[in-house]
Amino acid sequence: MTHDIHVIGGGLAGSEAAWQLAEAGLKVRLSEMRGSGEETPAHQTDGLAELVCSNSFRSDDAEANAVGLLHQELRTLGSLIMRQADIHRVPAGSALAVDRDNFSASVTEAIDQHPNITLVRERIDALPDGPTIIATGPLTAASLAAGIGAETGREALAFFDALAPIVHRDSIDMDTAWFASRWDKGEGKDYINCPMDKDQYLAFHQGLIDGEKTPFKEWEKDTPYFDGCMPIEVMAERGVDTLRYGPMKPVGLDNPKTGRWPHAVVQLRQDNAQGTLWNIVGFQTKMKHADQVRLFRTIPGLENAEFARLGGLHRNTFIRSPELLDETLRLKSRPNIRFAGQITGCEGYIESCGIGMLAGLFAAAELTGKTLTPPPYATALGALLGHITGGAEVETYQPMNVNFGLFPPITGRTKKADRKRMYTDRGRAALAEWLNSPRQQAEPADNSPELAPSA
Ligand SMILES: Cc1cc2nc3c(=O)[nH]c(=O)nc-3n(C[C@H](O)[C@H](O)[C@H](O)COP(=O)(O)OP(=O)(O)OC[C@H]3O[C@@H](n4cnc5c(N)ncnc54)[C@H](O)[C@@H]3O)c2cc1C
Repeated sequence: MTHDIHVIGGGLAGSEAAWQLAEAGLKVRLSEMRGSGEETPAHQTDGLAELVCSNSFRSDDAEANAVGLLHQELRTLGSLIMRQADIHRVPAGSALAVDRDNFSASVTEAIDQHPNITLVRERIDALPDGPTIIATGPLTAASLAAGIGAETGREALAFFDALAPIVHRDSIDMDTAWFASRWDKGEGKDYINCPMDKDQYLAFHQGLIDGEKTPFKEWEKDTPYFDGCMPIEVMAERGVDTLRYGPMKPVGLDNPKTGRWPHAVVQLRQDNAQGTLWNIVGFQTKMKHADQVRLFRTIPGLENAEFARLGGLHRNTFIRSPELLDETLRLKSRPNIRFAGQITGCEGYIESCGIGMLAGLFAAAELTGKTLTPPPYATALGALLGHITGGAEVETYQPMNVNFGLFPPITGRTKKADRKRMYTDRGRAALAEWLNSPRQQAEPADNSPELAPSA
C-alpha cells in the first residue's frame, strides 16, 4: 500500500496520530522499531503504546484536575488510547489505571487491523521527504536523533531533563519574598527572591545532604550532557558554602525589609508567558519527591508552595519546540514534518497521546486541503499545545505535564477553593465552542500562510 503520510514511532503519540489519520481516510505507514530486533532501554515488549513504568494515566477527575479534563477532551474527540484505557481499566480510586498488557495488546490489534494503516517493524534513521509525523519519544534511536539534530541544530535537541521544581505563582508568600534582579539589572523585577538567614541556610544545606535520592539507572549514566546540569545536592556535598557562591548567591540582592543582602537567596524565574508558573533557579535534583516538597517548603516564602512539577534529572530526548515548531506542530524549517508526543516536550502518557492526536488531526486536515484551528488555550489540549509551541520561555524550555498553570489565569476575585472548578467549566465551554465552530476551513486563511498545505 502506498501511503499518504508516514508516522514514525508506535508509542502513545504515534499510535493515536496514526489512528486519527486513518479514521480521516488517509493511508498511513506506521514504523515501529521494536519487533525488528531493535529495543529501547526502557520498553519490555514489542507492543504498541507500551506503558514503560507506571500503569496509571493519573487523575480521571474532570471537575477539579487538569489531567482529568484532558482525559475528557480526548474521549470527546474519539481517542483510540482513551477508548482502550477505559476498556482495560483497573480499580485505582479517582485515577485511571489500566491492565498494561491488555491495554497495549488491544491498541496493537486495533492499529494492525485498521485497513488504512500499514504497521512496519523497522527503524527509521533519516528524516523522510514526504508528509511525516515523528513520534519517537524520550528514547528516540540515536541514529534518528542525530538526523533531527542535524536539521534543528544540536543545541536545540536535549538528551536530559534537568528539571528544576516549578511553583504556582499564587502560592508564593510575597510578604516574605520580593521581586528584584541582581543589582537591579534588566527590568529590575525579573526574579522572585526568597531570603534565608544563616541558621535557615545551614538547616537547608543539611536537608539537601540528608534527603533521599533516586539513583541513576544503569543506562542513564552514559547519557551526554550530565556534567552541564549538576543536581543541587551534589553541589551541596562539595562544601557548605558552595551554593552561596552558586544558585543561592545573595550578592546584589537587597532585601527591602532589612536593606541588606540576606545570607543566601533562593531565586525563582518566570516559566510561562502568563506568569502563573515560576521555576526555582538551579534547583535540578535527584531527591525523592516527598523530600523535595518537605525541604523546599522550609524556604521562607515557599511555606505553602504548590508545585506544578518537582525537580528531576533523567534521560529524555526532546526538541526546543517553542522555537522550532509552528502552532500546528510543523517543523518551521521543513513543514512536511510534524513532531508529536514526548519528543515535543510534553511529559507523560496522556499528554503525549494528546499531542499525538493533535498532530494527527492537523496533518489530516492539511492533507485533505483544509486548515484546522488549534483548540483554544482554555482547553487542556490548547493549554498544552500553547506551552509547546509558544507559551514557554525558549531558553529554559523543559518538558511539562498538563496543569492549570498552563491555562490562561482566571481573573477577578475568586475563592481559591472554586478556582479549579472554574478552570474545568471554562475548558469544557471552550471545547464545545471550538467543536461547534467552523474550525476546519476549506481554504487557508489569507493572513496565515504558514498554515497552507505543504507540498
Ligand atoms: C524510564 C521511563 C519511565 C517513565 N515513566 C512514566 C510514567 O510512569 N508515567 C508517565 O506518564 N510517563 C512516563 N514516562 C514518560 C513516557 O515515556 C511518555 O509519557 C510516553 O511513553 C511518551 O509517549 P511517546 O509516544 O511520545 O513515546 P514512546 O511511548 O516512548 O514511543 C516512542 C516509540 O518510538 C519508537 N522509536 C524510537 N526511535 C525510533 C526510530 N528511529 N524508528 C522507529 N521507531 C522508533 C520506540 O520504540 C517507541 O515505541 C517514562 C519515560 C521513561 C523513559
